Amino acid sequence: MALIVQKYGGTSVADPDRINAVADNVAFTKKRGNDVIVVVSAMGKATDNLIALADSVSRTQPGREMDMLLTTGERVTAALMTMALIDRGIEAISFTGSQVGIITDTAHRKAKIIEVKGDRVRQSLSEGKVCVIAGFQGVSTDKEVTTMGRGASDLTASALVFSMDTDATEIYTDVTGVFTADPRIVPQARKLAKVHFDEMLEMAGAGSKVLALRSVERSVEETRAKIAIAAAALAKEH
Ligand code: ASP
Ligand code: MG
Repeated sequence: MALIVQKYGGTSVADPDRINAVADNVAFTKKRGNDVIVVVSAMGKATDNLIALADSVSRTQPGREMDMLLTTGERVTAALMTMALIDRGIEAISFTGSQVGIITDTAHRKAKIIEVKGDRVRQSLSEGKVCVIAGFQGVSTDKEVTTMGRGASDLTASALVFSMDTDATEIYTDVTGVFTADPRIVPQARKLAKVHFDEMLEMAGAGSKVLALRSVERSVEETRAKIAIAAAALAKEH
């Protein structure tokens, strides 16, 4: 049985119809015998709308309170997605970043992940449940709710991939792949058949939007670490 992480961005869950369509896809993946972790972003422009609300009542926007506010976006999607799955006869449970045990430093709005505990996710998967996780957020070493920067649901997905020892990651977004330029701006942009980690890192670093820079950095770091461990094991054998 494979463990698959599927990440759905804001456009993919922007309205009830799309949430239902995603739930169909998740149910399909689960019914084919896979374990599934779903990471969701806030619906459509929900995060922008929350920021606009804060702008209209606060000049100071304290980091702690902004994170209390912004984490609600993903929580809404996670709860709705889970209900839609349960309606399809799929056992499912939603979790916030804090419930997953995504432990971060204390830098509100740009927190860095220190550790992913993931015990509740492992437990629920072993009970046959689909785990639906609110992206973008964690809990700090001071037990406060944190967010990890705009677009950071990608980071939640890549952090889970490496802490859960998954077999595949699928990132669903509003374009069909990684392009040579943003296809919404440059119509001649070409879709790349394959992208090397280093190229993706360079593109994300230069401001390409398709994957959040920190999610790619983390993937590169973890992959290098895995290669180093494998090389060390091989060296020992010989
Ligand atoms: N909802 C957050 C944002 O808009 C995180 C994400 O979508 O990945 O930045
Ligand atoms: Mg994104």
